[in-house]
Amino acid sequence: MMAERFTASGVAIAVDPGKMLDELCAHFVEHSTVNRDGDLVTLEMTIGKADIRHEGRALAIELSCRSARALQNVRSVLAEHLFEFAGEDRLELTWSDAPKADRLPDLREIRVVSARNISPHMRRVTVACDDARHFAHGGLHFRLLIPPKGRVPVWPKLRADGRIEWAKGEDALTVRIYTFRNINLERGEIDIDFVLHEGENMPGAEWAVNARPGDIAGALGPGGGGVPDATSMILAGDETALPAISRMAAEIPAGTRLRIFLEVDSPSEELPLVSAGIVDLTWMHRNGAPAGTLGLVEGAIRNALADADGDTFVWAGCERSEAKRIRDFLKTERGHDRHRMSIGAYWER
Ligand SMILES: Cc1cc2nc3c(=O)[nH]c(=O)nc-3n(C[C@H](O)[C@H](O)[C@H](O)COP(=O)(O)OP(=O)(O)OC[C@H]3O[C@@H](n4cnc5c(N)ncnc54)[C@H](O)[C@@H]3O)c2cc1C
Repeated sequence: MMAERFTASGVAIAVDPGKMLDELCAHFVEHSTVNRDGDLVTLEMTIGKADIRHEGRALAIELSCRSARALQNVRSVLAEHLFEFAGEDRLELTWSDAPKADRLPDLREIRVVSARNISPHMRRVTVACDDARHFAHGGLHFRLLIPPKGRVPVWPKLRADGRIEWAKGEDALTVRIYTFRNINLERGEIDIDFVLHEGENMPGAEWAVNARPGDIAGALGPGGGGVPDATSMILAGDETALPAISRMAAEIPAGTRLRIFLEVDSPSEELPLVSAGIVDLTWMHRNGAPAGTLGLVEGAIRNALADADGDTFVWAGCERSEAKRIRDFLKTERGHDRHRMSIGAYWER
């Protein structure tokens, strides 16, 4: 039986649709499988598919997704990128079944319950959410919306063109991506693990450092991929991917073979990992070298693949340039099946 599909058609009238199509291909290659056949581009994402055809002054868009939520997400991501690529040029984007300008269906308010360091550079913030169940399925990640200090949050709304309308000026929110580390449905509480990384002006890490019971933020999600469906996996990443890898390890079916490679600064940053799988875990230490400079995640994947078969699912989350090298290696040198890999740029140096 065919799974139910949720579809929408859109038309984008643009000044230079051909150039926008080129930019879409260049950008989405990091997030999806991009197929181009002349004027037709197909973006295949885990949650759905977008066909985009260049026709005269327009891009004709057909979306097809597995759920209403996925459709809403794909539409808003695409709409946001189309407007970004149009820049100052005029762009008119309309949808067959225009979204109602309203509250975002995937947005929930979260309230800090407690915060504590679980290792020297990892801080766990536990938040309460009236509808924690909403985040339990459909992806491991979310956008954390941090309101400006001392102001009542003005949450984003959905626009008829599919974009998200964000508050501006004094009410502008800061947005960063994080992982739901644990979701406790009974208590209606969620743990989020924040890396206290080096740097200046880092609103995400600072929000965690300063989190006090009662602080309010927004969570927009879930999204960004879930637990891969495979019997054998290589999971590799630095500390920003530790929450995602820990959650995947905790959720995979018993018997799944996992080779896990985790890069942290030192043994004091190692955290216990629980899994029903058959786990072979290697910790890798930077010993004071700056994060994202040693290529440890890339090296681990190259080594591990030397004696792995083509069915092995390869998952990685790390610094952007290292993620790109891993992706290039898997695609070009190794010829790894693109449906059996997920390589994420988790942060950028
Ligand atoms: C799908 C996904 C899931 C993620 N899940 C988590 C998670 O659960 N926990 C988590 O902590 N992070 C997670 N991240 C990474 C997080 O979004 C980034 O580290 C983000 O940049 C943090 O924002 P910030 O405001 O603290 O710093 P930013 O304002 O983004 O950056 C400030 C400065 O800090 C540097 N910087 C940022 N991150 C790091 C780092 N990790 N190490 C060293 N320097 C850094 C930047 O280069 C910049 O110079 C995830 C990212 C993605 C894409």
